Amino acid sequence: MMSVISIPFIQKEILQAHQLHEQLSLFEAQMVESAIVSMLSESFCKNEETLKYLARLLSPTSYLDIINARSGNKICGYPLCHERTSENLSNGLFTYSIYCSKFHSRCSLYLMRQLSQVPLNERLGVHSTSYYNPSLNDVYNVDLLEELIRNRISTDTVTSLTADFRCLEVDDTHKDDTTLLDEYFEQVTTGKNSCMKY
Ligand SMILES: [Zn+2]
Repeated sequence: MMSVISIPFIQKEILQAHQLHEQLSLFEAQMVESAIVSMLSESFCKNEETLKYLARLLSPTSYLDIINARSGNKICGYPLCHERTSENLSNGLFTYSIYCSKFHSRCSLYLMRQLSQVPLNERLGVHSTSYYNPSLNDVYNVDLLEELIRNRISTDTVTSLTADFRCLEVDDTHKDDTTLLDEYFEQVTTGKNSCMKY
């Protein structure tokens, strides 16, 4: 059974033990990173805010560790998702994607592309539980693809934003295909989904 993680949960279970200093030591940073990977190997983020909060603590490397850990449990690599990875039959062989869908492959790449390369132990204050401001807009802040789509950014822009990251695309079955993203974009921009905010 997959559990749901929230910002208060991350603060209590992972960050609470590291509130003495504004800057984590290398060892503490490694502990936090491995705790996050372990946590997300069998859970998913409650909402977009939770994933954005978590992204402030992640690097492309730790994010890849998360994807691999989830893949080992056959859970979609995108941490907002609780679906299983997809299976495809090709040339008589089953191939497994590390995502549930093309759309989540894109979401995941878009997120990974923005993650900071700055080591966690050099990011001042990101682990502090007392000063977190959800509207904080600094170098560790990320935008999610879902937000872009809600804001009606064209799929051409999104494709070009993710294109130069293809070398890091470890997915085997969903690359080079934006069909689902186009369909999703079409759906939200034609207003069929009335709960979308603009
Ligand atoms: Zn998914």
